[in-house]
Amino acid sequence: MLSYQDMKLVCISYLDSFSAINQKRLLMALDSCEEMKTEREKKFRLYRILHLILWDFEEAIEIGFVNFINHKFPERLEAIEYHTLNKEINCFCDICKLMEMPA
Ligand SMILES: [Zn+2]
Repeated sequence: MLSYQDMKLVCISYLDSFSAINQKRLLMALDSCEEMKTEREKKFRLYRILHLILWDFEEAIEIGFVNFINHKFPERLEAIEYHTLNKEINCFCDICKLMEMPA
């Protein structure tokens, strides 16, 4: 199981792949998560929005949203961690920008 922070990172890394309206929905959901106190509340909110916006992903529809979150998200996180370790010093991709933001 990924932590909320890890899931958030994966979501941001996918941001460009979502339709404009779903990008907006995701960012609003992440914003409201910041105001929630517990990990459980944050994850619940994030799962709820993911079940709306993952319709943008052909693969998620094919393998099922829960499957997609349980299997593709950790894979994606590994790729992000790899990127973080191997990136150029001045990388300005969404992931690197997010990592620089105070938690
Ligand atoms: Zn980067």
